[in-house]
Amino acid sequence: MASLFRRMLHGTFLTLFVIAAALSPEEVEADVVIIGGGSSGTYAAVRLHDLGKSVIVVEQDDVLGGNTNTYVDPQTNITIDYGVVVFHDILVAQNYFNRLNIPFAIAPMGSYGTTTFANLKEGEVIANFVPSNPTNALAAYGAQVAQYPGLGAGFFLPNPVPEDLVMPFGQFVQKYNLGDAVQIIAGFAQGYGDFLEQMTLNIFMGQGLQVLESMQTGFLIPVHHDNHEIYDNAFQVLGSDKVLLKSKVVSTNRSFADHVEVTVQTPSGLKVINANKLVMAIPPKLDNLVDFDLDGTEQSLFLQFVNTAYYTGLVRNTGLPENTTYQNVDVAAPYSLPDLPGLYGLGATAIPGLLDVKYGSQTAFFDDAVKADIIATIIRLRTNLGIQTDEEPEFVAYNSHTPFRLTVSPDDVKSGFYDKLNALQGHLHTFWTGATFDTPDSALLWNFTETLLPLITA
Ligand SMILES: Cc1cc2nc3c(=O)[nH]c(=O)nc-3n(C[C@H](O)[C@H](O)[C@H](O)COP(=O)(O)OP(=O)(O)OC[C@H]3O[C@@H](n4cnc5c(N)ncnc54)[C@H](O)[C@@H]3O)c2cc1C
Repeated sequence: MASLFRRMLHGTFLTLFVIAAALSPEEVEADVVIIGGGSSGTYAAVRLHDLGKSVIVVEQDDVLGGNTNTYVDPQTNITIDYGVVVFHDILVAQNYFNRLNIPFAIAPMGSYGTTTFANLKEGEVIANFVPSNPTNALAAYGAQVAQYPGLGAGFFLPNPVPEDLVMPFGQFVQKYNLGDAVQIIAGFAQGYGDFLEQMTLNIFMGQGLQVLESMQTGFLIPVHHDNHEIYDNAFQVLGSDKVLLKSKVVSTNRSFADHVEVTVQTPSGLKVINANKLVMAIPPKLDNLVDFDLDGTEQSLFLQFVNTAYYTGLVRNTGLPENTTYQNVDVAAPYSLPDLPGLYGLGATAIPGLLDVKYGSQTAFFDDAVKADIIATIIRLRTNLGIQTDEEPEFVAYNSHTPFRLTVSPDDVKSGFYDKLNALQGHLHTFWTGATFDTPDSALLWNFTETLLPLITA
């Protein structure tokens, strides 16, 4: 009897032990844990891996790549990049692509088909629209940007911050007579919300000397037109057990003297990652950081960010003529910039009949509202063009890249916001990269991330 009782007790303990083991989080060790597997996070992971560091990437999405979106046409297998398309021909990008076996060429940033100018809000083609010749104004703009060499490496501003940098870009354009360059600069600044109201600093950061050079000499473009290949190959390099997809940080503890502890909910259960360093490569908005143990300094800085919204997709069955790109202009508006929220344009793609749509807004919208406005815009245009069709425009791909541009007020900039933001590097074993810390431009972000590596590996 006693032995039966002992055996039952033993069985119960065994069962409890098995259940407890199954419920208790898996403990994982790494040199560096990286939150966010977009452009900057993936670059950091590959470089740290190659420098001999063990890394773990935590990504909320089911793929790496962030703003990189590639559509694979099921009929033809043709790939279309409807997110990130081009890169700068700089050493850091060349090295990265060679490392990941991505063949590339240098070419101008082209568009498919013929370009027609249209006021898409009104649904009217502007047949006689002649864009201004930007050559002289671009040179004058470049001379202005060149006065701030610190901005090429990040938000390194002169002290005191010159008024020119914090004035709205529209005012800066008037002051220096740069109007003829506005259309082309704005074309490279999609997703920036109200372009002319943006602080000049933010335009300089996004459309700096490197962008001007690439406009002249060409961009680095992967020849397969499948930018997801970069992230697929990075995934292979890092190993599937080191990239936690569809995963979410549930808590962090950075109070230890020599390491951080990051608890992550993954599809296969909870993992507790103990790492020497933490790299944050996600938009630092407070609502995206609720599960992180931010201290007062971090909270007070991130609280100041506001953001714009940027949406992209591919639409078929538009009924519009094939191989025609519609660039949205409003001749009644300053510099003919289109009114937002709205479409920047409808771009022809490598697949006849499939249109690339880019939509911007100063503030975020519900996805259904964005999609409905895009469809309504297409129907308005084709109706006004006299196109008779029953075709229902339909999204084959859609992504919201919101929050897109995170910025702060001129007063914050003048009172040293970016010095304080830069001082966060290394604070609480944590390093920050991504568009908010430099600029929404992949190759330049890889450059920026590269400058952090000696600090992260120290
Ligand atoms: C439509 C579009 C076209 C563009 N075209 C170009 C181009 O041609 N060339 C160019 O250089 N740049 C382009 N850009 C700019 C682009 O933003 C930057 O190049 C770059 O992607 C920004 O990198 P990032 O690392 O800051 O952010 P992202 O690449 O967006 O990466 C952030 C990652 O973090 C993840 N994440 C966010 N929050 C969390 C969380 N809480 N937990 C876990 N993961 C999280 C996201 O899912 C994402 O994968 C384009 C952007 C868009 C939207």
